[in-house]
Amino acid sequence: MPKFVDAVKGFGVTLGSMFKRPITEGYPEKPGPVAPRYHGRHQLNRYPDGLEKCIGCELCAWACPADAIYVEGASNTETQRYSPGERYGRVYQINYLRCIGCGLCIEACPTRALTMTNIYELADDNRGDLIYGKDKLLAPLQPGMQAPPHAMAPGTTDDDYYLGRVTPSQEVPR
Ligand code: SF4
Ligand code: SF4
Repeated sequence: MPKFVDAVKGFGVTLGSMFKRPITEGYPEKPGPVAPRYHGRHQLNRYPDGLEKCIGCELCAWACPADAIYVEGASNTETQRYSPGERYGRVYQINYLRCIGCGLCIEACPTRALTMTNIYELADDNRGDLIYGKDKLLAPLQPGMQAPPHAMAPGTTDDDYYLGRVTPSQEVPR
């Protein structure tokens, strides 16, 4: 008999809740908004002509308190250029099993290559897919951008890139 009473009580809670206004989010059909400065998935940015901003310096990896970033830099050549200047990030990985979203890595980046988006859907069903490489982290090519490797805009130096003087059309306003 007590079990029966418990069951009736339980259904009472269910029935009582059925007629209340729902306060749940409509996720995942309607993902909720986040604050503009929310620390979501990282992004590796590009210059307006498509060259990569990352110079493979590893400062982000050294700044990370969770040891979540792995970088291997390499040298650009005139025929294989991925970024302005000498070096680029040949391998770049962020392990989202470790990342705590603190943002110290983006503060450490000297070229603003690394920023964080508002994307928060980072769950997966296996560990390997939560290690994001350049294929997932690099910003998509925008109109006017060309996929590296390619040469720097004619007559420019890496300073011109850093100072924002290179446009998508590869002209350098002086
Ligand atoms: S947000 Fe913090 S924990 Fe995540 S990769 Fe950057 S420094 Fe590491
Ligand atoms: S993302 Fe920034 S700090 Fe990290 S290796 Fe690239 S340039 Fe250096």
